[in-house]
Amino acid sequence: MTVSDIIQQENALRIKEIARDLGFDFCGISRADFLEEEAPRLEKWLRLGRHGKMQYMENHFDKRLDPRLLVEGAKSVVSLLYNYYPEETLPEGDEDLKIAKYAYGVDYHFVIKDKLKDFLSRIQEEIGAVDGRCFVDSAPVMEKAWAKQAGLGWIGKNSNLITRKSGSFFFIAELIIDLDLQPDGPMADYCGTCTRCIDACPTDAISEPYGVDGSRCISYLTIELKESIPESFKGHTKNWVFGCDICQDVCPWNRFSQPHRESAFHLPDELKTFQARDWQELTEETFRRVFKKSPLKRAKYEGLQRNVLFVTE
Ligand code: SF4
Ligand code: SF4
Repeated sequence: MTVSDIIQQENALRIKEIARDLGFDFCGISRADFLEEEAPRLEKWLRLGRHGKMQYMENHFDKRLDPRLLVEGAKSVVSLLYNYYPEETLPEGDEDLKIAKYAYGVDYHFVIKDKLKDFLSRIQEEIGAVDGRCFVDSAPVMEKAWAKQAGLGWIGKNSNLITRKSGSFFFIAELIIDLDLQPDGPMADYCGTCTRCIDACPTDAISEPYGVDGSRCISYLTIELKESIPESFKGHTKNWVFGCDICQDVCPWNRFSQPHRESAFHLPDELKTFQARDWQELTEETFRRVFKKSPLKRAKYEGLQRNVLFVTE
């Protein structure tokens, strides 16, 4: 082992300790190279129109696959996972309307971005003149592919990143830096013969194992799609009015999920007892107050109303 290898190893360990200190649950490292395996998959996914009307997915094809085109001098991609699995869920009766668990509390972009800034500052303080950029769902970065490459988990048949220790209810973030670090290896796939997510998806969005048709997914229909939800999905969106957790809830690896420790992600008290009627009668004023810092603002009041009407009318 050379001196340079030892330094890369020590720096990688230090960075993982800093990540742990800041509350990240998992941290892994990859070399900032071209994502060879992902390129044909992304190309096929776009060609088949699986991105629906998410036109932005067609942009920056090369940058998506090569972080060196995104961050000058990039040497390593540090992938981070932040748990959002809640201890307490919204009412889950047949009549109750549902939102994805990631959207229960304050928008994760705010929470994680602050942490990422601290992360880079701490690395600079403890290691030296390191430069880089932080990303959380905000630029053309193949987050799941990098997390898989860094050995944090595998991409399951439902297209989520799954960890062996704690399932898949995690936000993924990255720091792309100009520092050589010892990389971690990719993890094997532990889906085996299981098909629970495919069988449970109510809109048949998992059209083939490992291939989610984004344009059929309830998350797309209730958040990304800005026009009317096609009538053909009537009765299939199962009371979900913002996102969908079905393919994660049924995944056997999520029996290992542990409740998060982030107070910003707790359900607001007012939401805990929300019944279908409360969603139906929600005024714009209440929406603004209850969802002030929530990811639901992404759908806007009109979008949420559209989704509620779609499942209740
Ligand atoms: S999130 Fe829901 S709709 Fe989308 S693939 Fe999973 S089960 Fe299907
Ligand atoms: S439900 Fe089964 S097939 Fe689907 S992601 Fe989980 S382990 Fe893989």
